[in-house]
Amino acid sequence: MGMNNESLYKELFRVTEKFHSSMEVENVLSEIIYTLKRVFPNFKYSLMISNDNHYNQDLPVKPLQYDSMDDRAMQAFINGSIQIDTTCDTKLTRLYSPLHGKQGVYGVLEVITYASFSFEPNEIEFIRLLANTAGNAIENAKLYQQSRSLIEDLRLINETSHVLNGSSSLNETTKFLKAQISKSFHAETVAFIFINEDNTSSILEGSSAVFETSHGKLYIQFVFDSLKKQRDSIFISDLSGKMRDIPLSFLSIMAVPMIEGNSLKGFSIVLHEKPYFFTFDMFKLFQSLIHHSTLAISNSILREKLEKMVITDQLTQLFVKSYLNNQIKTSMTNDKEGTFILLDIDNFKEVNDTFGHQVGDDVLVQVANLILENIRTTDIGARWGGEELAIYLPGVPLGAGAQIAKRLVEAVQNKTNPPITVSCGVSYWNKERKDEAKNLFNRADIGLYDAKNLGKNQVVIKEDYQII
Ligand code: GH3
Ligand code: MG
Ligand code: MG
Repeated sequence: MGMNNESLYKELFRVTEKFHSSMEVENVLSEIIYTLKRVFPNFKYSLMISNDNHYNQDLPVKPLQYDSMDDRAMQAFINGSIQIDTTCDTKLTRLYSPLHGKQGVYGVLEVITYASFSFEPNEIEFIRLLANTAGNAIENAKLYQQSRSLIEDLRLINETSHVLNGSSSLNETTKFLKAQISKSFHAETVAFIFINEDNTSSILEGSSAVFETSHGKLYIQFVFDSLKKQRDSIFISDLSGKMRDIPLSFLSIMAVPMIEGNSLKGFSIVLHEKPYFFTFDMFKLFQSLIHHSTLAISNSILREKLEKMVITDQLTQLFVKSYLNNQIKTSMTNDKEGTFILLDIDNFKEVNDTFGHQVGDDVLVQVANLILENIRTTDIGARWGGEELAIYLPGVPLGAGAQIAKRLVEAVQNKTNPPITVSCGVSYWNKERKDEAKNLFNRADIGLYDAKNLGKNQVVIKEDYQII
């Protein structure tokens, strides 16, 4: 029995060559077993491997199970050193050699022989080197797998950063992110939540519809409450019993805060119905995605706020005159008709003189709110200047537009406090006749002038387009 050093090292050389020429773990492992069988034909071998990879059936692979494992095998695995078990109750000698890579131990090679056998030092060294070759092969394959998924993750983050930096409205930003998240995590239930200055939360467009339901809002509240206490990401594999005592539709949750500078701007949530759906790698990737998108999201939000601020009158929250003008010009090229209402508060000077400027302002706001209550979101209510307000109704015929003006005059009379009244001039355009925005304004202005002269608190329609 036994071989001389020279032939042992020849065998070792062959395996090492095989190892360098093949990235396939299975090829390396079967070469190792084959070599062992050549050198020690009477022994039995098995590879006890600690990860869940599935190897070819022909390989003598057993899973490395901590509980049922032999004491000595366990020691070899934990300590990384060769163990020989000669306790002869089994009439066998077992040698355990750890499968050492550079970064860790991946399993144990078990060599079984008869009880009285004693290994020569060069044989032990030979087995040790073979086992290490197996360890390195397994390690390489694992690293290769990891680096591939790492590259995929980096590609995703790179693509995301690229798209978001080149953008774009908030809506496009969240839509794009949602698509990236759905693709990477196979989860369709995604929310982007923005935290307002008053510490309330808003669901951003692009979030899944379920978050608008009371059930969906529970998850938002759960995450928000947790982030208020601690700004850590959330990764829970089974939410059962963790969120009040109600049956939950989603059991897996990942949530990542959007932090910019030092402040919590919002957070993103991904849910899945099944428990244990997300892996820890997905969680880390999700964190990375959100970290890279936070700036883009809060910039889009800021830009939208600014854009809105520029076109909004600060006192009344109606649009400013320039915005109204632009919208009317657009409408006069795109639509086939439209109605314009110019509205002026009656005796407003008196209101100011009697109640003070503050109350005057408040009344102005009351009228603005009545306007908003009486028009649709596609209509445009604006502050024309001072205590004059204007409404443009794109695509609305004169009859319907005049009705709205009359309804508004009545509402103001009945609902303002201190009670005031308004006068309105109404004008109208359609595609049949040649017209211009400035003529539309002039006609409404004349209507308003007439309404004042006729005793105020009323509507005058100036349909005649020739009046300019
Ligand atoms: P009329 O019925 O003819 O429209 O009478 P009036 O008093 O409303 O009209 P006038 O043009 O004489 O006075 C308008 C007043 O509205 C004068 C101005 O101080 C006041 N006013 C304009 N803008 C504001 C505002 O933003 N807030 C307040 N409180 N007052 C304003
Ligand atoms: Mg006026
Ligand atoms: Mg007035």
